[in-house]
Amino acid sequence: MKIFFIILLTFSEVVFSQQIFVTPAESKNYRDLTSYVELEEFLLRADTNSEKINVEKILELQSGRKIFLVRASSGSVKPALIIFAQQHGNEHGGKEAALLLIKQIASGDFEDALKEIDIYIIPQINPDGNEKNMRRNGNGKDLNRDHLIKMQPEVIALHKVIDRIKPFAALDVHEYYPYSESWKKFGYIKNDDVETGCLTNPNIANSVIDFSKSKVIPYIAEFMAERGYIFGEYCVGGPPDEKRMRFSTTDIDDGRQSSGMKNIFSFIQEGKNGRDSVDNLERRANSQMNGMAAFINFCAENSLKIQELLKNAAIKYQENDSAVIRAEHIYSGEPVKLNMLSLSSGRDTVLSVENFHSVIQPKLKVSSCFGYMISRTDTNLLNWASRNSLIIESIDNLPPDYLVQEYKMLRDSSVVIEEINVNNFKGEWIAAKRTDLLPIEYVVIREPEYLNPGFLVMAFEPCSQYSLLNYEDFLYLTTTEIFSIRKIVAAGK
Ligand SMILES: [Zn+2]
Repeated sequence: MKIFFIILLTFSEVVFSQQIFVTPAESKNYRDLTSYVELEEFLLRADTNSEKINVEKILELQSGRKIFLVRASSGSVKPALIIFAQQHGNEHGGKEAALLLIKQIASGDFEDALKEIDIYIIPQINPDGNEKNMRRNGNGKDLNRDHLIKMQPEVIALHKVIDRIKPFAALDVHEYYPYSESWKKFGYIKNDDVETGCLTNPNIANSVIDFSKSKVIPYIAEFMAERGYIFGEYCVGGPPDEKRMRFSTTDIDDGRQSSGMKNIFSFIQEGKNGRDSVDNLERRANSQMNGMAAFINFCAENSLKIQELLKNAAIKYQENDSAVIRAEHIYSGEPVKLNMLSLSSGRDTVLSVENFHSVIQPKLKVSSCFGYMISRTDTNLLNWASRNSLIIESIDNLPPDYLVQEYKMLRDSSVVIEEINVNNFKGEWIAAKRTDLLPIEYVVIREPEYLNPGFLVMAFEPCSQYSLLNYEDFLYLTTTEIFSIRKIVAAGK
């Protein structure tokens, strides 16, 4: 009788824990998405029922919806890895995958990984967009174009978390949509269940990019193939007969590159979206969860090596005497093989694409500098600097042998770089008369140690394709004859 009782108890405990750790979409057999309310309930259940899982609210939006940060840990503090999903509210696969991942961790998977690292997960950065099944957030803004200007509360909250937990590795999770008219017209659509993209900005150390391409991508490819999923390196551009195909973009306004600027081993993951929000949802969730698992396992197994790599990259960044402010993907002459679905035969096909621009060529470099000077009265720019955790200090702290340069804003129409209009200015930096600079009006802006020194140069140089001047909120900086931002260089440079 006693034995029977124990067996019954154990059985009911198993049933209980299984109920807790079934995701809302799973419980609906993937016929419907996890709603915001269900996501909140699921996370709180995981927090209550698993010792390894800790859930924290990092932001409450005006709508009353919250953004949650999940910490998975085996106890003592270890190097952190962060995964954040659903910046785009209509890309549900990443969110569902993140919940599956939390379930797996709570069910005892990833024990080996948790011996090496702490795993942080934000399953849903854009709850307002999620509820309306739209790409943008409640303010109508694209969060994944906001990481340089940091005007949206969701993005500010994410970067606060990043600055607090200082992860060595990051994965930004999305979905790509292959069902557009232009792809249909082409006759083939992209067919990767999951694509992963490395850092590509030209100011990221080659050692980091090489290691990512030669070690991480093949590791994930093998992991996914073993589990029956189609995988490819993240590739953007329209159909090959229309626009250039390339592995990625180089801009620093997204989750991946902005983390890379903080010297984090950073990647983007793109799952294949459905024809509508629930189409193929089970496969979308499971394939993306496996992509996350591959990334976690790689980073856990290679944690020390990656941290060493980043440390050496940081030293190299500090030694660089220039930063690239314009770059373009150029035609490499080598075709790329892409996994496609033929719309006429319905078969999986590998297509060799000739119009492939895989090489990133720097187009314009400027010398790096001690920092910049901005007006104390420009609160918009000052607030931007503090949102980016930049060093803001009095000009009394300047080195004794500094020179100040100023820039005359002679606009020379715009120039097109990789199909995007970029400001073009004919001006150049020239020495400013020190007597014109009233000390009291200016403060000095510099990067903290952990930030790539190319960051400020890319953000402030008027000719930079990555510049703040390309954003509406900073357009006012282009209207004065003399650029209101001054550059500080060491004498003799
Ligand atoms: Zn996206």
